[in-house]
Amino acid sequence: MSKPNRGRNIKKVANWRGTCPLCDRKRVKLLWPYTKDGDTINVCKICYAHQNKA
Ligand SMILES: [Zn+2]
Repeated sequence: MSKPNRGRNIKKVANWRGTCPLCDRKRVKLLWPYTKDGDTINVCKICYAHQNKA
């Protein structure tokens, strides 16, 4: 389970690919949780990395 967001694992998640609500990248994988204003939404890994860096 070292790479849970790679390969066929992502197919188990509904709506796993779409437009990131934060950076508006199209057809990215939205598999990373992001907490904003008390709500948890799914974002791309780039926004997820930014959240953890700050
Ligand atoms: Zn993003």
